[in-house]
Amino acid sequence: MTFDVIIVGGGFAGHAAAMQLGRARRRVLLIDASRPRNRFANASHGFLGMDGVPPDEILATFRNQLSAYESVVQITGEAIGTSAFEGGFRVAMGDGEVLAARRVVLAGGVRDRLPDIQGLKERWGKTVLHCPYCHGYELDEAPIGVLGESPMAFHQAMLVRDWGPTTLFTQGRLDLTQDQRVALSDRDVSIEETPVTALLGKGDALDAVRLSDDRQCNIAGLFVASKTEVVGDLAKNLGCRFEDGPTGQFIATNEQQQTSVPGTFAAGDAAAPMSNATLAAAAGVKAGAGAHFSLIFNAKGTA
Ligand SMILES: Cc1cc2nc3c(=O)[nH]c(=O)nc-3n(C[C@H](O)[C@H](O)[C@H](O)COP(=O)(O)OP(=O)(O)OC[C@H]3O[C@@H](n4cnc5c(N)ncnc54)[C@H](O)[C@@H]3O)c2cc1C
Repeated sequence: MTFDVIIVGGGFAGHAAAMQLGRARRRVLLIDASRPRNRFANASHGFLGMDGVPPDEILATFRNQLSAYESVVQITGEAIGTSAFEGGFRVAMGDGEVLAARRVVLAGGVRDRLPDIQGLKERWGKTVLHCPYCHGYELDEAPIGVLGESPMAFHQAMLVRDWGPTTLFTQGRLDLTQDQRVALSDRDVSIEETPVTALLGKGDALDAVRLSDDRQCNIAGLFVASKTEVVGDLAKNLGCRFEDGPTGQFIATNEQQQTSVPGTFAAGDAAAPMSNATLAAAAGVKAGAGAHFSLIFNAKGTA
């Protein structure tokens, strides 16, 4: 059977795309490997209607609501390859099955590459955080750190000061200009040049960081601008164009979320310079509608 659309990735973006297409009674296959980016967090915040709900409960709600649409098939598994043929795309699954569709939506998200500091990875999503809007409120105005792993750390430190007393750890590498130092001082942000070597605290909790000269600095949360990379090679295999973003490369798309390869759409974190759950869902809606339009009008515009 050839589907109208195969959607690879069933997170916020993929489910939103499937919902639009299912409501148009199109034959859709949604393939999901069930490893959403936010799976490390106990609760998701800021997604209207589901503020404070655990990520797996949100996904269960998505799946349940989507199952009402009979033309949508949802499967758990990993797509490992894609190729174009006249009029459509083949998608190869990890178990050897090959599926076909007239359009493809890539919504597989990104993975985070974290700095190699003792005690950091195990606290990711709990007290080591990437976004103050998502998890800053829960720190309850306790002291906060920002790890100076990239030039974005300056902006992060300026921002997160609204969530609590802030220290920017430059790791001895972040080259701050004099203007930036003045701006940080005006925001009452402390600057610590001695590198952080370990995170301290019981379990997921963070009480302090240890510095390379053995001093400790008390903080309850540490913000890190992780480096990101698009999950998997499907977009590369198809020849989709990528762009550089502040944390890593992402798939270039046009206004309808179509990539540089006609008939291939992309949405969510994989196709945005910076994102969150709401923006990923919104892009998924656009990709679903964009794929639907292209099935009808065979739109030729690409990114
Ligand atoms: C720790 C953490 C906490 C966060 N908390 C929040 C928050 O509170 N609020 C907020 O708004 N944002 C939050 N975010 C950001 C949010 O998680 C992302 O913006 C959002 O998940 C992006 O949605 P997506 O659909 O693009 O990708 P994802 O939600 O990551 O979903 C992608 C899905 O595609 C699947 N997939 C990938 N490749 C394949 C393949 N080849 N075959 C089959 N399936 C595949 C994956 O397994 C995954 O299930 C958080 C991020 C992190 C890292």
